[in-house]
Amino acid sequence: MSVQNVLKLIKDNNIEWVDFRFVDLLGRAHHISLPAAEVDEATFENGVAFDGSSITGFRGIEESDMVMMPDTESVFIDPFTAHPTLNIMCNIHTPDGERYDRDPRSIAQKAEEYLQKSGVGTAAYFAPESEFFIFDDVRFETGINKSYFEVDSEEAFWNTARKEEGGNLGFKVRQKGGYVPVQPVDTQQDIRSEMCRLLMESGLRIERHHHEVATAGQGEINFRFDTLTKTADNLMKYKYIVHNTARQYGKVATFMPKPLFGDNGSGMHVHQSIFNGDTPLFYEKGGYANLSDLAMYYIGGILHHAPALIAITNPSTNSFKRLVPGYEAPVNLVFSKGNRSAAIRIPVAAVTPKGCRIEFRTPDSTANPYLAFAAMLLAGLDGIKNKLDPRALGYGPFDKNIYELSDAEKAEIRSVPGTLDEALDALEADHAFLTESGVFSEDFIKNYIELKRAEAKSVSIRIHPHEYSLYFDC
Ligand code: GLN
Ligand code: MG
Ligand code: MG
Ligand code: MG
Repeated sequence: MSVQNVLKLIKDNNIEWVDFRFVDLLGRAHHISLPAAEVDEATFENGVAFDGSSITGFRGIEESDMVMMPDTESVFIDPFTAHPTLNIMCNIHTPDGERYDRDPRSIAQKAEEYLQKSGVGTAAYFAPESEFFIFDDVRFETGINKSYFEVDSEEAFWNTARKEEGGNLGFKVRQKGGYVPVQPVDTQQDIRSEMCRLLMESGLRIERHHHEVATAGQGEINFRFDTLTKTADNLMKYKYIVHNTARQYGKVATFMPKPLFGDNGSGMHVHQSIFNGDTPLFYEKGGYANLSDLAMYYIGGILHHAPALIAITNPSTNSFKRLVPGYEAPVNLVFSKGNRSAAIRIPVAAVTPKGCRIEFRTPDSTANPYLAFAAMLLAGLDGIKNKLDPRALGYGPFDKNIYELSDAEKAEIRSVPGTLDEALDALEADHAFLTESGVFSEDFIKNYIELKRAEAKSVSIRIHPHEYSLYFDC
């Protein structure tokens, strides 16, 4: 959309505030609002200044001046503000007009530019399935409902869950039995529909919504695929609308990967494919799951770099509490058609040549989508460049339920890292696939690892409730 059209949109909709937003390293959005009357062509040319030193992981105090550069393609009218407000996503520039090398959105754009420069294709498409829980609105750190969230055994969890849910006692979701039951078991139909209504009004194309497997109000809404940066923008919009709709209902929505011990966690499976113009490059009739060699190499790149990649796609200590056997979250670094226990699944039901894609199931929504999509694309492109055939490298295909393999068979299979620190070790050792192209800078990787190590440390030095059960009576 042109600047003129944005200014017209502001006028036609009696917009009072224009809200300039950017995304930090951790994937959280920040904003500064300007009165609509103060916004003109010059605002789009010069950007909006902010203090980069107050944002986690950005600049030091000695070089704090940063600039938000609005992207007119990203505008949408905020569905929640009492005063009509237009939201607009921005890149972050340094005061001398360069794209800031720690700006996630600039990194996402550089990854797309690199794809085109590499000559492999013209566009990469992404579609995330970002799952979430809706809980009663409680302040977790105050300890209200503490028993529900801090129980230390599976049995205690189910006892507590049964007691505390209250109401609707005849129609409870059974353990791991939440996948698509109708009401009154599904108590969140209306809230998800309202989320979808607002998402559609805000420009997303919604494909479906449903209750997910976990017992306590887990949901998923799917929106249509798009190119890399656009999909990351869409995901930011999605999380904003899911969070704020839940709030309007007096509830709280969380994308935390594993909020409840003993039940399914929330993933963010990411479907991806590459096109050259109109031609889908992942499709070739007759290959395994109708995949082309190029798609195979892309899979090879993702699986080969997965331990390092996971430091970006699963960047929280909590991420690794989801990546355990038994909850439909992947543990094994293998690929397979249909099989949901593999890290990469190739959807085969109702798939057309253009819909031919791979689904990387490891990521979760604590990932910064700009960084995660960029890193996945770069891992895949590295696989294509170096012809990393996943079949030759021992990554499958495995079409059996991997959870049920014999010990000898299992011994052959590599697993995801067990902790955030292990993933960070892997990223430290293997990040040329991110930096060689210039998409991620060395400084970015170093700073990111430092930030995340501090996060892991801040968790590990705290006393865990389960430690009382293990050690208190020693
Ligand atoms: N919640 C599961 C995960 O953590 C996925 C469940 C599903 O979509 N089938 O990845
Ligand atoms: Mg799904
Ligand atoms: Mg799902
Ligand atoms: Mg999926």
